[in-house]
Formats: sequence, structure tokens, C-alpha cells
Amino acid sequence: MRRNRRVKIVATLGPASAAPEMVERLFLAGVDVFRINMSHSSHDGSKTLYNTVRACAARHRHPIGILADLQGPKFRIGEFQAGRVNVPAKSIFRFDRAEVLGDSERVFLPHTQIFDAIEPGHNLVLDDGKLRMRVIEKSDVQIVTEVITGGMLASRKGISMPDTLLPISPLTEKDKQDLSHALKLGVDWVALSFVQRAEDLHEVRKLIGDKAAILSKIEKPSAVTDLEAIIAASDGIMVARGDLGVELPVEKVPGIQKRITRMARAAGKPVIVATQMLESMISSPMPTRAEVSDVATAVFDGADAIMLSAESAVGQYPTEAIQMMDKIAIECEHDPVYEAILYATQTEPLPTGADAIAAAASAIADTVQLGAIVCYTATGSTVLRVTRERPGIPVIGLTPVESTARRLSLVWGVQSILTGDPENLSHMVRKACRIAFEEGLVKPRDGILITAGVPLGSPGATNMIRIAFVDESGAPIAEDV
Ligand code: PEP
Repeated sequence: MRRNRRVKIVATLGPASAAPEMVERLFLAGVDVFRINMSHSSHDGSKTLYNTVRACAARHRHPIGILADLQGPKFRIGEFQAGRVNVPAKSIFRFDRAEVLGDSERVFLPHTQIFDAIEPGHNLVLDDGKLRMRVIEKSDVQIVTEVITGGMLASRKGISMPDTLLPISPLTEKDKQDLSHALKLGVDWVALSFVQRAEDLHEVRKLIGDKAAILSKIEKPSAVTDLEAIIAASDGIMVARGDLGVELPVEKVPGIQKRITRMARAAGKPVIVATQMLESMISSPMPTRAEVSDVATAVFDGADAIMLSAESAVGQYPTEAIQMMDKIAIECEHDPVYEAILYATQTEPLPTGADAIAAAASAIADTVQLGAIVCYTATGSTVLRVTRERPGIPVIGLTPVESTARRLSLVWGVQSILTGDPENLSHMVRKACRIAFEEGLVKPRDGILITAGVPLGSPGATNMIRIAFVDESGAPIAEDV
């Protein structure tokens, strides 16, 4: 199963796509990674989804990634006597700790941490950005605000504090239980919502260890401020444009998306662009022209993956949405301007052996016009350094480690294949040639570039580059072995 594009597709599972035949159809349409949204999945439900995806992968003998997305800390206001109230702009509105039903002047706020951390001048955003208030006064028991954007406010609506760094753990009790369940299942990636700072990652890393790779969702202004350290502490990044556009003015989101994509690429960490990519396809078989352009922007920017949320989880056209993403991505990657735009954001290799080999691999592949780069890898780290260069030819990750093969399914341009460690150097060359040939990536007399660590099978020790040419049967041309 070879995809004809380098950017990967992530699709969120939900009622519209949970049936085994739908998972199969979506995979065939182009999905590389399935996302299970723990905000909406019970433990039984996520276990069934997990098993369905693994069964599909086994049938096709193709590594498919599974990403468990944790809900993270979501804050809600209390209830109103009337169910909902009108809160006009320029009026004064209070949040307090009195556990009584609210009215048009006040409401209960059941989160003590907010009272501790908020300061006069900070903004409060309610109901997905529909209402905005500014704090004018605060004490331990109440927060007094001036309403900037008014409107109807209903009981239990969400509240966020874009300017406030909250002294809270990145994992709620629900997240801890969901995380433990997801790790027991064996998911490949765990996404953390509302990451505020790099220390959040250190705390979560202690719980996850190497059981799964950690993806940070960038959706808070404080995370944008601490981006470099967050990227360094994460295994991957998601530009979570839904909440980012609630916490920050929406017009700031495109620039931040470009900055995050560029910085994650430079660091060699996979980056997903997410949310509302083909939103109108929730109820229409065709996207808007603007949505097509949005997907194209992420592809031209060299993002590792593009993601569908409601389109594939609850939409009427999940298969069509994936086919559409696939078509847009293929078209963009074959566009005459693609390479010029992609390479406009190249960055220098770091002064390490791995980066020197990755940069050399790309340069050699270009100079000798090779057909593929084949990386033997245990942890996937060499593959990440090689794809960071965005080479113009396919990258094959050969690994004996199943979790590595699945994690790499999120990474730009990589086709990962599960295979045992080679016995010796000659076997290594024969195996790489055969696989590249069988996968249809090279024709007779084409060359491949191989990277590996010698002694073979030693993780983290890539130190070798080899060029080989394949004959009519997919074996190395004799003098290469
Ligand atoms: C987002 O906010 O863009 C996002 C991906 O997170 P969620 O779907 O969990 O709201």
C-alpha cells in the first residue's frame, strides 16, 4: 500500500467512521493515522476503535498510526436561574465562588485556580469566543469584569483565560485515567491539549516514558510564547487552530501556523495542521475553494500531516473528505512551484553525526539522481533527521520495531516497513534493494542510498552511508554487494 504523496493524512474517528467497513474505506482512501478523541470516547468505545484499526493494519500489512487525543483542562461556568442570560457590552459582570444560581450580573465559577492566577487587565473568553470580558478587579472570592463583547450566555458554557498562566497540571483526573487506558491499549501517539509551557511536557513524559510519542497541541498564547522549548520537549506538534482561534484573535492564527510549522520542521519534529480544513464537507460533498486553498497552504508549507476532525468523525462525507485531501495534496506536490516554496524554509543541519549524514544523504541523492533513501532505524530518529531535509525522493524506514514503524506513519515522506535487522553488510544492501524494488520505488539500474548504524542493530548509532544500484530482479548489481 503505497501513497502517492508525501504529506500524511490524520482522520478523527467518530460515529460517522467507527464501523470496521468505514475504517477500511477511510484507510483505502488515504488515512495514515487515525485519531481517537478522548473527549468524546468511552474506554470501551476507544478499545473497539483501537482494535478495528489494528485489524485493518494487519489485513493490509501496513503500519497505521493511532493518536489518542486527551481532553485537557476545560473550564466551565456554573448555572443560571433562567438557563441563559443576556450580558450586554460595557456592562459589569462578576464571577464568584458563591454556589448559587446566577443572573445577568453574576455567575458561580467552580475553579479556584482561576481566582488565584488571574490579574486585572486579563481577558476572559466565553462560549468558544462569542463573548469577551476584561478583568477590572479581583479578590480571592470574586472576579469583576467589564464586558467587551456581549451576547447571550448559557449555563455551563466554556471559559478560557488567554492571558493567564494557570498553576495547574497539564493532566486532569480524567486525562490521567484516559492516558493510562490509552497506554494499556498501546496507542502510538498521545496528544496533550492546552499545553502552557515546556515543563508540562516534562511532567507528562515521566508518566508516559517511551510507551508512546508525545504530541503537544498548540492552542494557548502562553504555548506560542514558549514554542521553542515546547517543540524541544515534544515528539510532535499540532497546530490546534480551533482553540487557538478562541484564545487569540482569529486573524493571528495563519501567521502563528506558519511560525509553528517552520519551527517544528527546523527541529525535525512532525507537525500536524488541524481543524476546519474541509469544514463544509461535514454536510456537503464538495469543499469551498477557500478550504482547498487552506489544505494547499499546509502542503506547500511542508507540514508533516493535515487533519480532519468533525469532517470524518461526524460528517456526512468522511470518505469524500479524505479523497479530497488526498487529491489536493497530490496536485500541490506535483505543482511546478512546490519545490521552490518547500525549500524556501530549509534550515541548516546541526553539528551532529546524524545531521551530517542526513544532509549528505539528501545531497548525494540529488547529485547521483537516486530513486530512494533507505534508512535502517530502531527508534526512527535517523529517519526524522533525513526527512527534516525534505529530500525530493521517497524515504523508506526499515525497522524491526513495530511501534517505530507506526509512529513514523505521521512523518512527511516516510514509508515505514517492518523488517528484521540484517545479518551483515551484504544482507543489508540486498534487503534494502529488494524492498525498494518491490515497493515500486526503483526500476532496474536505479540507485538507492542506504543509511545504517554499524555494528548493525545498535540503536542511535547511524554512522554509515552506502549507495547501491538494483538489477532486473531487484538484487544489487553484483559489484555493489
Ligand atoms: C483544536 O482546538 O483545534 C483541536 C484540534 O482540539 P479539539 O478538537 O480537542 O478541540
